[in-house]
Amino acid sequence: MDAYGKSYHLLCPGPVNVRPEVAAALTSWEFCHREEEFSALLENVQRQALEVAGVRNPEAWAAVVVTGSGTAGNESVLATVVPDGGRVLVLANGEFGERLFRVSSVYNDTVVLEHDWAEPLDLERLAGMLREQEFSLVAMVHHETSSGVLNPVEDVGALCRAHGVRLFVDMVSSYSADPLDFEACGVTFASTSSGKALASYPGLALVMGRRDAFEALGELRPRNHYLNLYRYYAFLRDKAQTPNTPAVPLILALDRALSLALAEGMPERLERLAHLAAHVRRRACERGLRLLVEDQPLSNVVTSVMLPAGVDFERFRLALREEGFVVYGGKGPFDGRLFQVSTIGDVDEALVDAFFEAVDRVLRLIAAPTRLHA
Ligand SMILES: *Cc1c(COP(=O)(O)O)cnc(C)c1O
Repeated sequence: MDAYGKSYHLLCPGPVNVRPEVAAALTSWEFCHREEEFSALLENVQRQALEVAGVRNPEAWAAVVVTGSGTAGNESVLATVVPDGGRVLVLANGEFGERLFRVSSVYNDTVVLEHDWAEPLDLERLAGMLREQEFSLVAMVHHETSSGVLNPVEDVGALCRAHGVRLFVDMVSSYSADPLDFEACGVTFASTSSGKALASYPGLALVMGRRDAFEALGELRPRNHYLNLYRYYAFLRDKAQTPNTPAVPLILALDRALSLALAEGMPERLERLAHLAAHVRRRACERGLRLLVEDQPLSNVVTSVMLPAGVDFERFRLALREEGFVVYGGKGPFDGRLFQVSTIGDVDEALVDAFFEAVDRVLRLIAAPTRLHA
């Protein structure tokens, strides 16, 4: 055990600290994934995933489990749902939108509507592109984890609906933490992963989508095998199975994490996470720390806090590790300029307070001129 050091408070947006019930679920049962126990588990994950998503008509939707991280779920959608010759429009205002563009470009003729990171999506330019060009799919990120910005899926969905274009939403970091009404927003497919706001272990992706859209995929030419979304859907529909060997312990843990979310109650859960995120922002502002984004809707998942001038992120991170906390810094244009505080795992207000007290000590330490009294 101690070969790997110690455990940390994970205030990064995945991995997160899991609850003991989720840890226990990992080793709770031993059965064969080709027998009825596993089918019952997979059906239960589907039922609970759609309930957590808040769909009003679950029979019209399906939720498939793809073994792999969130990107595997995104790739399964982008590799499967666009017919040959179809075009994809990706909206990007941060790292994860740009990643959707890269993944889609491997399989599809893909256009990106680019923005600076953390800039609001330009809905007028989007409307113009949808008017002037033919697209088969629009792909976007709900919560852009690289900044904390929550993108306006409802507005994008209305434009997609008006032009008869399907909408795929990457909810990898927002699912179960920031509400999104699939039906009202005109979402066709949405993806998430086990190891972010759901607060289970990483290693599984969930792809949810309208059943009629999943059915239509059977007509298309497969463009890869392992991540062919239609195979996952057809195995679930026909046999309540996965096409290949599933990561059963991870699915047991995911199932438990979904039950914990439902037992808490989704309105209560969203309220708790909103409250915790507000608490982080209050504690940061009390110290005179500025936030990256002040004029746009923010997620309940992550707060990006600017580092005070002259503070080196790597020194800051290492000193916080000594205090037992793990945080991420900025990427791309935010590299070295900010740190991110995420409260989606087993975190409460007292831990947030302890974290900011540690930040105070670390900033004093880093700011202190060395050898003052030498
Ligand atoms: C984490 C994340 C992903 C997927 O990353 P993986 O490393 O594959 O799990 C995709 N989109 C968003 C918005 C994310 O936060």
